[in-house]
Amino acid sequence: MNRIDQTAARRPDFAVVGGGLVGRLVAWQLAGAGHRVELYERGDALGTQSAAWVAAAMLAPLAEAVSAEPLVVGLGAASLERWPRLIAQLPEPVFFQRNGTLVVWHGADRAEAPLFERRLRANSPAELLDGGFVKLAGAQAEPALGTRFAQGWLLPNEGQLDNRQALSALAAGLAARGVRAHWNRPVDSMPDARWIIDCRGLGGKPAWPALRGIRGEVARVHTPGIGLSRPVRLLHPRYPLYIAPKENDLYVIGATEVEGEDMSPVSVRSVLELLSAAFAVHPGFGEARILELNSHCRPTLPDHRPAVVWDGARTLRVNGLYRHGFMIAPEVADTACRLAEALVSGEVNGADTFGDFRNAARWPELLHGAHENRAAAPELSH
Ligand SMILES: Cc1cc2nc3c(=O)[nH]c(=O)nc-3n(C[C@H](O)[C@H](O)[C@H](O)COP(=O)(O)OP(=O)(O)OC[C@H]3O[C@@H](n4cnc5c(N)ncnc54)[C@H](O)[C@@H]3O)c2cc1C
Repeated sequence: MNRIDQTAARRPDFAVVGGGLVGRLVAWQLAGAGHRVELYERGDALGTQSAAWVAAAMLAPLAEAVSAEPLVVGLGAASLERWPRLIAQLPEPVFFQRNGTLVVWHGADRAEAPLFERRLRANSPAELLDGGFVKLAGAQAEPALGTRFAQGWLLPNEGQLDNRQALSALAAGLAARGVRAHWNRPVDSMPDARWIIDCRGLGGKPAWPALRGIRGEVARVHTPGIGLSRPVRLLHPRYPLYIAPKENDLYVIGATEVEGEDMSPVSVRSVLELLSAAFAVHPGFGEARILELNSHCRPTLPDHRPAVVWDGARTLRVNGLYRHGFMIAPEVADTACRLAEALVSGEVNGADTFGDFRNAARWPELLHGAHENRAAAPELSH
C-alpha cells in the first residue's frame, strides 16, 4: 500500500466535532452502525464545557408546549419514549424518571394559571393532552409540599434524567464502541475525515453566524428531608422557576433566561431570585447547602427550532437545541445519523435526492440543505 492509500485507509468515516450532548449521541449511534468515528471535544470526558453539563435535563414536552413550536413538542414526546431504550444500551447507569411534572402557583399569582393552561392546550397535540394534564387540589399535589398550594396540575407522563450521568455513560459507550475520542482538543479547522458532523453547540457560531446564546443560570443544592418526588414548576410573572430533584437529595434549581452570550459566573440577582423562589416553594430549602452555581448559554437559532443542515458536500451541522436539548436530542441525533448513513451509501448525493430523503423522513422540518432559502441556513458560512 503506498502512502496515499495508507492515509486514506486511516481516515475515519466520520469526525464528530463537539462532544457535548448531541455529538456524543451521534458518534455513539454511528459507531454502533459499524462506522469508524472520531470525536473531537474542546473539554473533558465529563462534559464540563458543554451546556449539557449545566442543564436540569427535564424531559417535559407538554409543559414546554406553552412556548415551544409543535415540532419541538413532537420531538420531545418521541424522544421521551426513546431515552429508556437508549440508556439500557449504555455501559453505566443513568438516573431516568418518568414520574411527571407538577405545576403550582402562589395565590397572589393565580392570574398566571389560566394563561399557562390556555397556551398549553392551544399548542399541544390531543394525544399528549389526553390523560396528560390532571388538575389537583391541595396536598394531593405533592405530599412533600403539604397544603402550601391550594391547586396544582400534574403532567403525569413527563420525565427527567441525570444530565451528568448521561454524559459520562455516553463517554463510556463511545469507548465501548471503539470511538477514538480526542478530549481537550478544540477544533478550529476541520479534521481529516470522509464526513464531518459539526455538533459544537454555540461553539459552532463561526460557521453559523445566525446562532446565538441564551444564558441560563442554575443552582445545585443538597438538602435531605424535603423529598420532592418529581420536578416542580412554579408559575410566576417575574421568577418562573423549576426545581428538579435528582438522586441522593440533590436539587437543580433553575433557570434564568437572558439574551446574550455571557458565560461569566452567576449574578447575585439571579441567585437571590432563584433561591428565594425555591424557599417560597418549600422553606426546607433555607437549610439546603449550595453545592454549585452554574451558568451556560443555550445554542439557539432565530426561529428557536433545532436544525440538521447538510452543506451539499461533506458536512452536516446539528444545532439549535436551545432549552430542549435533553428533551429532543435522541430524535434529533437519530435524524442526523440517518442522513449521514444516506450520504455514505450515496442515497443522498444532490439537491433532488436530499429532497426525496426529507420527504420520507419522520421529521422533515428538521432537515435543511444549505442551498435552501431558510432563515437560518443561508447564513451558514463554509
Ligand atoms: C441552564 C440550562 C438549563 C437547561 N435545562 C434543560 C432542561 O431542563 N431540559 C432540556 O432538555 N434541555 C435543557 N437545557 C438545554 C441543553 O443543555 C442544550 O440544549 C444542549 O446541551 C445542547 O446540546 P449540544 O450538544 O448542541 O450543545 P452542548 O451540550 O453545549 O455541546 C457542545 C459541545 O461542543 C464543544 N465545542 C464547542 N466548540 C468546540 C470546538 N471549537 N472544538 C471542539 N469542541 C467544541 C463544547 O465544549 C461542548 O461540549 C438547558 C441548558 C441550560 C444552559
